[in-house]
Amino acid sequence: MNPLKPGQRVMTELLKSITSMANIRHPIIDVHTHVYLPRYAAELRARTSAPRILNWTNGAKTEERLLILDGEPSGGRPIGPQYWDRDEKLEFMRRHGINISFVSSANPWLDFLPADRAQTLAHELNNNLEEYCATSPPAEGFSGLKTLYGFGLLPLVPDVEVSTIIQTIEHLKSLPHIRGIIMGTKGIGKGLDDNALDPVWDAIQAARLVVFIHPHYGVDSTAFGENDNGHVLPLALGFPFETTIAVTRLILSGVLDRFPDLRLLLAHSGGALPQLSSRLASCIQHDPIVANRLKHDARYYLGQLYFDAVAYGSEELTFVSRTISRASTFKNSGGTVDLAVGSTRLLFGTDHPFFPPLEASQKWPSVESNLAAIRSMAGVDSTPEHQANILGLNALRLFDLHDQVYT
Ligand code: URA
Ligand code: ZN
Repeated sequence: MNPLKPGQRVMTELLKSITSMANIRHPIIDVHTHVYLPRYAAELRARTSAPRILNWTNGAKTEERLLILDGEPSGGRPIGPQYWDRDEKLEFMRRHGINISFVSSANPWLDFLPADRAQTLAHELNNNLEEYCATSPPAEGFSGLKTLYGFGLLPLVPDVEVSTIIQTIEHLKSLPHIRGIIMGTKGIGKGLDDNALDPVWDAIQAARLVVFIHPHYGVDSTAFGENDNGHVLPLALGFPFETTIAVTRLILSGVLDRFPDLRLLLAHSGGALPQLSSRLASCIQHDPIVANRLKHDARYYLGQLYFDAVAYGSEELTFVSRTISRASTFKNSGGTVDLAVGSTRLLFGTDHPFFPPLEASQKWPSVESNLAAIRSMAGVDSTPEHQANILGLNALRLFDLHDQVYT
């Protein structure tokens, strides 16, 4: 038998390790998927201004529509059982090969309610979501895990007592299938960079709950002109810009310095933050008010965040992964680029039940394109190990469920 040359030996070992990685059985986990629980849908049906669910008549056809904002284009969007029926969620998961979903209460959460109503409804909806998850089927092939887990709600509205928010965090901590909190960008009226929220970040960090930061309001719609472009501009641009601004304000306020163990998951791959992060760093360096405020260069904080992989394109995902990988080089004490790090903070998501197919189809193109984008990422992110991370293992680690399966 011919002995292998050193180069060939390395190649063989590499191929062996890639093949063994490919054999790792990993779940596909959706971290960005919503539910309008029946109690929440009832609250929206009882309203006469946005956000609301209304009966919409077009000729002979009457359907329910969801209007999330006043003056929303196209009279809102059709809404049906896929928004609240758990069997529809499970069927959607089966159809797309998704093993586990972390389901979040949908926008605009409790933002529009007076403080006492927001508090009561947060408590009831969090209990309802716990039951929705706790009674879901076991995740087939992943012993000890359920198919459904949840992101609960806080009564984040003006005039709420911070102690009430902390009580809700304590309640969420006691619900075993609730692993995080979804929130918008308004905080208790002044945004997420409001210093009054420090005790809330502190309590969330201590409870190890993941915070999913998700947009709702977009940006001033006058920027979008007068042509009817349906929901395209608010969804494609307004939503991610809102997230970009909210997270940039969090960075600028020093929240990520004060609470370095907070686990923040950003919707839609962090919006424009990865693309604009060097510009942000430069603007900070040149601004006498902010230049000495933060512990690190702004680009460092991207490595402290988690990003869903709801970006629909492999180049965009590879780019986000690279901005995460380089983050440690911007630590004040310095570090090196490790390309293998990027994909450890990217997590598959679908945004179900939004973006359904316009024509009847077996699989949803929005989901298929997100899966295809992950599967054709470039470089180290294309290896089976990193693919398994993005598709499911990162979620198990982030939500402290990994050791339950892989010990
Ligand atoms: N995705 C969401 O999460 N919410 C919307 O309103 C639209 C898309
Ligand atoms: Zn969403």
